[in-house]
Amino acid sequence: MGKGTKAVRGGVRHVDEKVGPVVEPIYQSSLFMYRDPEVKEVPHTIPLKYSREDNPTVYAVETKMAELEGGAAALGFSSGMAAITTVLIALGKPGSRIVMPLDVYGSTLVFMEMFSKYGINITITDPGTESVIKALDKGADFVFVESVSNPLLRVYDIPSIVRAAKDVGAVVIVDNTLATPIGMTPLEHGTDIVIHSATKYLSGHNDAVAGFMVGGDVNLVNTVWDWRRVLGTIMEPQTAFLVDRGLKTLHVRMKAHEENARAVAEFLSEHPKVKRVYYPCLPNHETYEVARKLLRNCGGIVSFEVKGSMEDAMRVYRSVKLIIPSVSFGGVESIITHPGTTTHRHWTPDMKARAGIRDNLLRLSVGLEDVEDVIEDLDRALRSVP
Ligand code: PLP
Repeated sequence: MGKGTKAVRGGVRHVDEKVGPVVEPIYQSSLFMYRDPEVKEVPHTIPLKYSREDNPTVYAVETKMAELEGGAAALGFSSGMAAITTVLIALGKPGSRIVMPLDVYGSTLVFMEMFSKYGINITITDPGTESVIKALDKGADFVFVESVSNPLLRVYDIPSIVRAAKDVGAVVIVDNTLATPIGMTPLEHGTDIVIHSATKYLSGHNDAVAGFMVGGDVNLVNTVWDWRRVLGTIMEPQTAFLVDRGLKTLHVRMKAHEENARAVAEFLSEHPKVKRVYYPCLPNHETYEVARKLLRNCGGIVSFEVKGSMEDAMRVYRSVKLIIPSVSFGGVESIITHPGTTTHRHWTPDMKARAGIRDNLLRLSVGLEDVEDVIEDLDRALRSVP
């Protein structure tokens, strides 16, 4: 089956033959009839008993995600951060060594700092595939990267990282939030675990907070399941319904996001008030060759530096009318973010310099409005720069 068919029709459904719903119902039930107390505690087996462990609506979307990522099994979480923290708490041990680059999502870095109090050794490398591979040479138990980083959209060379990780026996975890399974399926390159913030493109409508892990090995997923049911970090059934509905149009939305984002990137590249544009599929991007090799869809995010100071970037940020100034990305509405004062506001100047985050940088999540209107709004906002 193709990605579109999997997105629309994939996953296990709990069909009620008598009523015959086409859509998986929202099983808003915290408990299920459980007549046989001898039943073993095995993930996802019917009879289910309690929605902190498993829920049919959540299971339907989990199985769809496993199919989309080409994994053995998936777990749904209450947020992307719930997925990341539950996976690392489940698999890490005192003394575990984790390698990750500086340009992972900010709260992932914050968690790593918190997690180190349990005797976990964290190595934060400079951004880029080469720095990660160099750090792996010294040995590691886990490596964590984002397939496409944020906000500068570096594409990590996942097959090369997997090779280096396997040489030292490290588990490879890839946050695939920006790429989505439409853009890349890291498990096919030998990754062990894929993570998602489903808050972004997977749900796609800025109306749900959710996350996933997908594993290539069912035993690994079951280990995390055991921790999820104790930590209580499972996705809500209502949210699972929204995510499942979003997933049904993921392939179509990603095509449209990419088309709009390309047009915006090309417009900005020619604009006299723009210093630099970051889009993974523009030939001037530092990881363009890796993107050409690995990305099937270039995504909907375009970052750009305004010619001038932070104040000039903030003028653009405050002048947009159609585009919404906010945080997050991946929804149908176009959103503009100033990383320097939001996602990266607690970073030291040295960290920002190492990651290449400048004060005049803006990140644009290009939505699905008519792109001419988005471009007109940007053009008007850029004209506010003296
Ligand atoms: N991973 C990436 C790449 C993100 O951008 C985010 C949030 O912005 C997360 C994980 C965390 O996801 P959530 O906000 O759903 O917890």
